[in-house]
Amino acid sequence: MIQWQQEFKNSLRTPNDINAFFGTDLKDIEYNSFIPKSFAQKIKEAGPQSSLWKQFIPAQQENEQIDGMYDPIGDTTHAKAKQLIHRYKNRALFLPTTVCPIICRYCFRKNELTFKDDLFKADFQNTIQYLKDHPEIEEIIFSGGDPLILSDEKLREYLEAFANVGIKCIRFHSRVPIIIPSRLNENFIQLINEFSSKFQTITLVTHLNHSEEISTEVEAVITKLKKETNLLLLSQSVLLKDVNDNSDTLADLFWAIHKIGIRPYYLHHPDLVKGGMHFHLDLETGRKIFLQLRDKIPGWLIPHYILDIPGGHGKTPAFNPESLEFSGTLIDRYNKIHRYKNMQ
Ligand code: SF4
Repeated sequence: MIQWQQEFKNSLRTPNDINAFFGTDLKDIEYNSFIPKSFAQKIKEAGPQSSLWKQFIPAQQENEQIDGMYDPIGDTTHAKAKQLIHRYKNRALFLPTTVCPIICRYCFRKNELTFKDDLFKADFQNTIQYLKDHPEIEEIIFSGGDPLILSDEKLREYLEAFANVGIKCIRFHSRVPIIIPSRLNENFIQLINEFSSKFQTITLVTHLNHSEEISTEVEAVITKLKKETNLLLLSQSVLLKDVNDNSDTLADLFWAIHKIGIRPYYLHHPDLVKGGMHFHLDLETGRKIFLQLRDKIPGWLIPHYILDIPGGHGKTPAFNPESLEFSGTLIDRYNKIHRYKNMQ
């Protein structure tokens, strides 16, 4: 077994495993637990007040939430085949796995992944048929679960099939570069280089929310990818209560992301996810933080601050230059107005 697969296998998988490793006192948690021991050691060293602990150690509050939605961004509304979500005209999300390198306690797909929603059942022939019938789809976004937890062989099979139906761009959204950086090894680099002539762009969007997540291993791996591949390296972050909800922490994060050679792309306002509502903050607070952030970092370093309108209506800018106060409605890309309940 290669190193990264060994790291993945050697993981804490239950509240009891977590209690034994961290000395916590968790009872039954309704949602899955999963932390590779190599990353658990980093969390332990960072301690209970750290952003790592707050993001990845389960909390008893997850069980007690009545607010929040099972599918906050309306994945199922746009599911066109199993594992395929077509929400925007020229791009589609592909969900090849429910497995992640760690379980982020705030995850927007927390319920769909835990309860193994039908959406994740494989039916690749239908996916390919749908893409053949919809040549307007130019980009496939591998999401999940985490697509980079798949073997190189499986990724090769998918990339080959997408190249054969004329997909122009590939994008991976992944937490793997932060949690198991050793997965992005020589073989992975070879795989990316093998396909870089078959697609116009291959993008890796690394998910990270705090500068504490950037270890020396992460920096080394990203530097190598930058040198040895044509990957477009972007980031996405989620604004999370008590993790990164102030402009100084975010400014540190985006400078740290820039320093390792990644361009900040998205800052997501947290979704209204059942079991993750203790990370939620209201839109006025988010706007105030973003306003302060604009004063602390240059324009080229500022990500798009966006919010997914519940019900599957897609992303919309979360910042409003006309008002920090929230009116109670949001406008989607078709100029339709939607009510949005700003919970705290
Ligand atoms: S890696 Fe992504 S999909 Fe998996 S738990 Fe974290 S946020 Fe959710």
